[in-house]
Amino acid sequence: MVSRVIPVDPFDLVIFGGTGDLARRKILPGLYRRFLAGQMPEDARIIAAARSEMDEDAYRAFVAEAIAEFVEPGHRDKAQIQAFLARLSYVATDAKGSDGWDSLKALMRDGVVRAFYFSVAPSLFGALAEKLHEYGIADGDSRIVVEKPFGRDLASARALNATLAAHFNETQIYRIDHYLGKETVQNLMAVRFANSLFEPLWNAQHVDHVQITVAETVGVGGRGEYYDRAGAMRDMVQNHMMQLLCLIAMEPPYKFEPDAVRDEKLKVIRALTGVGHDEIVRGQYRGMPAREGRKAEPSYTEDVGNAHSRTESYIALKVGISNWRWQGVPFYLRTGKKLRNRISEIAITFKEPPHSIFDEDDAWRENVLAIRLQPDEGMTLTVMIKEPGPGGMRLTEMPLDMSFADWLSEDADIPDAYERLIMDVIRGNQTLFMRGDEVEAAWAWADPIIAAWEDRGERPHGYDPGSSGPEDALMLMHRDGRRWREIRG
Ligand code: NAD
Repeated sequence: MVSRVIPVDPFDLVIFGGTGDLARRKILPGLYRRFLAGQMPEDARIIAAARSEMDEDAYRAFVAEAIAEFVEPGHRDKAQIQAFLARLSYVATDAKGSDGWDSLKALMRDGVVRAFYFSVAPSLFGALAEKLHEYGIADGDSRIVVEKPFGRDLASARALNATLAAHFNETQIYRIDHYLGKETVQNLMAVRFANSLFEPLWNAQHVDHVQITVAETVGVGGRGEYYDRAGAMRDMVQNHMMQLLCLIAMEPPYKFEPDAVRDEKLKVIRALTGVGHDEIVRGQYRGMPAREGRKAEPSYTEDVGNAHSRTESYIALKVGISNWRWQGVPFYLRTGKKLRNRISEIAITFKEPPHSIFDEDDAWRENVLAIRLQPDEGMTLTVMIKEPGPGGMRLTEMPLDMSFADWLSEDADIPDAYERLIMDVIRGNQTLFMRGDEVEAAWAWADPIIAAWEDRGERPHGYDPGSSGPEDALMLMHRDGRRWREIRG
């Protein structure tokens, strides 16, 4: 399959935090790939703004290194890299002071899309929004892109929304959730709404339960300080997993356009049930002493440097959706660090047939539609078939497997989540970005759950690195006569 690349309008993209980790690993390599794919028009420019003093040459060298490190070797073409670097400028700018703002203003052109990516700590979002207006750099058509985390509870998310709203309309604000930019996540919508096959089954009458898993093998790494204040609920569930749940559970929007899709997602969040304390299991990874051929591994509390931390690096919970379509269907969510394998997956398990005509009843396994976001993006539908060969009618399960990598030709151009989302900003398409009311509704759901475990003074359960999480999380499913899918890589 050959992909079509449609160039976007000319733009000036300002990356605040252009020397930061996210810019280096994702934003700049992503923009280079879009340049290579021919999606950037000739007069598209990228202006990096950050606190460090450096000249343009030094910044271009920084970006060249980022490309060398984070772009696949096959895409590193010397002449193309030079042409891309020529599009870059750098302005040392202080979000909190006056340095750099006049120079930035002088660089901006009229008649092109102006987009400002806030790839800085959220505490600077308000200051940047104010400065863009104070210096007359942003106008009514400009767009701002804000990174996560968007608040740490309802009150802070509301305050942040109000700060941004003081200077920008909702149609100008792009709250990024990179999960929504993943190819498979968008495929989820295609599968649901471009086929007549699944939608009739997509309800409480036919679906037994849904599992959403985001398992990581890494620990908190260098993000310990941030993570210990957030935990898995705030870092993963309230945003990324909530978005996945919305896309599975929402009603068909009347059209694939921003507010139609976001209205339907919002209805799902508002219909979420609370989570009782026996419907939630929190965990924290233990350390591992050195063993044969393997180094010792620090525990979570050692990683974050807080021996008394009660923050969860794992969470499993069961939630319901109070509406006609999903009444009584549990959605089981789990996410954690230092687990057995790295996998993000949504699995929809269908109910058993109402009556079996076969003797071999115990051979029956559920039909499961599993949608993998990573690794190896694709979908598998498990169906029951007759076991091949003689010996009567014996049943066995068979996966109908579709790996996107196998299906697409090698040179197919699949943009990574960040590059796709940045191009959507330039196109002015907000469909894959969170609206302010969605974010607030998600916090309004999460806040009482977090408050309840804090009030109980609950400690997370320990689990071994490389395991599937705490034992108690198994019970969450077993009690309901169900089991988690294996965390397979
Ligand atoms: P970072 O600490 O690596 O970089 C911060 C950037 O902000 C630097 O370029 C720095 O010069 C700039 N900066 C700091 N103070 C400034 C000031 N007063 N004025 C102007 N610029 C200033 O941070 P990061 O990891 O790149 O993260 C940036 C944002 O992206 C944060 O909101 C973070 O939560 C979010 N995020 C990061 C990742 C990631 O993988 N790094 C993932 C998801 C979200």
